[in-house]
Formats: sequence, structure tokens, C-alpha cells
Amino acid sequence: MKNDLISIVVPCYNEEEVLKLFYNEVEKIKEKLGNASIEYLFVNDGSKDQTLDILRRLAEIDSNVRYLSFSRNFGKEAAMFAGLENAAGNYVVIMDADLQDPPELLPKMYNIIKNEEYDCVGSRRVNREGEPPVRSFFARQFYKIINRISETEIVDGARDYRLMTRQMVDAVLEIREYNRFSKGIFSWVGFDTKYLEYENRNRVAGETTWSFWSLMKYSLDGIVAFSDTPLAISSLIGLSSFIISIVMAIIVAIRTLIFDDPTSGWTSLVVIILAIGGLQLFCLGILGKYIGKTFLESKNRPIYIIKETEKNSLIYKKERKF
Ligand code: UDP
Ligand code: MG
Repeated sequence: MKNDLISIVVPCYNEEEVLKLFYNEVEKIKEKLGNASIEYLFVNDGSKDQTLDILRRLAEIDSNVRYLSFSRNFGKEAAMFAGLENAAGNYVVIMDADLQDPPELLPKMYNIIKNEEYDCVGSRRVNREGEPPVRSFFARQFYKIINRISETEIVDGARDYRLMTRQMVDAVLEIREYNRFSKGIFSWVGFDTKYLEYENRNRVAGETTWSFWSLMKYSLDGIVAFSDTPLAISSLIGLSSFIISIVMAIIVAIRTLIFDDPTSGWTSLVVIILAIGGLQLFCLGILGKYIGKTFLESKNRPIYIIKETEKNSLIYKKERKF
């Protein structure tokens, strides 16, 4: 029987400070993987620092290191997809470069996927220590909301750090949507996943690229990608304000006809017009979000564009001299 090959997919965006540390840490746990060998597949997501140079050098000294370098920053979702698509292993694991995903969990994951009947072993943070409290609060609310309105289960605290069988990776690759929300996609494809729990860790160096607002936008994108409940809510709002207006019209008519008391005052009218106008814009906004997503999908653009890999790296450098 052929030995297993585990592909380690590592999305990297401005990670010059941590790449070497990361590589050394993973090298340390290599022996614990039994007969399985590993390949690194770094995906340089348009970094503006020395990340690509470090990857070139790593690939030169270690033939197990491969890399893909994008033509610009396409985002972590695109980087993960490119990694999965180009991984050669019969098992694939996605790991952040900043060592927030502990490499020492990998042997455990491999053991479970080999000996138990799971297709995927994921990881879950059991706490959010070291994170700003406001962010934790909104994160928890996000998981509550999305799990209530979406049929796809999104596990709270689950990281993208997961070891998958080739079968599951191929299933994930079948989903070629442009607006990718991997947390949902991994769960949507099904298969049996076991979650290992661990305490949150902070980045070893460098800085997170997520600001509060980018996380907010990411959550909204996740909701739009995996639920159409907001659309239903907007029609519900429309319907209820219509019913209220009919009831009010009847009340006004009765008051005028029976009590000869026409309603006066334009203040109330202005308030009502503003309220209804606001609701209409709000619902249009929701609608627009979905139409915008459909628009982007219908363009059918590639999810990422590769500029350089370890295979054309030398040619590339020679060409540059001219
Ligand atoms: N990342 C990426 N492209 C981006 C942003 C981030 O490939 O546009 C990578 C980054 O290099 C890291 C991982 O995604 O390996 C997670 O990023 P980060 O640590 O900033 O996020 P956090 O851990 O705070 O969620
Ligand atoms: Mg991180």
C-alpha cells in the first residue's frame, strides 16, 4: 500500500515574521506522523513584504515545499481554495501561518482520521482569550443568528484548521462559487467531522488583517451566502406595515363618518411617510445585497490568479533581468 501524503495548505498574507517559525514548528512534529509524508503548499496571497522571497528560498532548500503566488491579494478564502485545488496529497490540512493553529494537533488529527470513521477532523477554540471583548460578543451573536436562520450548521469557534480526506476535498472543490464562505461550505458538503478542542492562542508575531468592520462585513457575507431568511424578513415587514395601514385607514374612515372628526396634523403624516420610506429602503438594501452577489457570481470570474509557483520561479527570475 502506498504511504499517505498529507498536504499542508498555508494561506500567507504578509507573514515574513512568522514563516520560518512556522516551518520549524511543523518540521518538529513531522516524525510523529508515522509513515505519512508531508508536502507544504504555501499560498502567497499578494503579500507586500518579503513573504514570497522567503517561500522561494524555502522551496530551494526543501523539495517538500511548494508554493503558489497570486497576482494580487485575493483574500484568505481564495487562498484556501487555490491550496485545496493544487494539493497533491490524499489528505489535506489547512493551517494558518501565524501558529494560532497548533501544529502539534496534527498527529492527533491524522490518528483519528486514519483509525476512526471520520472524513474530517477539525479544531475548535473553546475560549476567545486575548480577543477584545466587543469582538467576542459580536462573534457569539453572529453564530447565534446564522444558526437560527440558516439550515447549514456553522460551529461556534470552529477554525479553518482541519484535516480532510481526498474525497471531502474533492467535494469542496466542486463548489465553485465566487463568494466563498468556507465555514459554511465545509459543513454544507456533509461528511463526518470530529472537532478537537483547544485553548485560544495569540499570533506568534505580525498582526491580524481583520479589523472590526472587515469581520462585520464577512459575517454579513456569510449570512447572505447561506440563508435567504433576510429576504423573507423584508417581505414580512412589508406585509405587516401594509396590514397596519389598512387597519389605520378603517379607523380614520370610521372616525370621520361616525364622529365627524377628520384627523388633523401633518406631523403624524410626516412620521409615517419617513417610517415607511425608511423600511422600503432597508428592504431594498437587503434585496440589493443578494442581487449584488448574484451579479458577481454570474460574471464567472476565476477565484484566483497565479503569477508564480516553485516550478516557474527560476525562469521567472531570469526573465525579469531583461
Ligand atoms: N490571510 C490571507 N489573505 C488575507 C488575509 C489573511 O491569506 O487577505 C492568511 C494569513 O496570512 C493567515 C490566515 O489567513 O495565515 C489568518 O489570518 P489572520 O491571522 O490575520 O486572521 P485571524 O487569525 O486573526 O482570524
Ligand atoms: Mg491568525
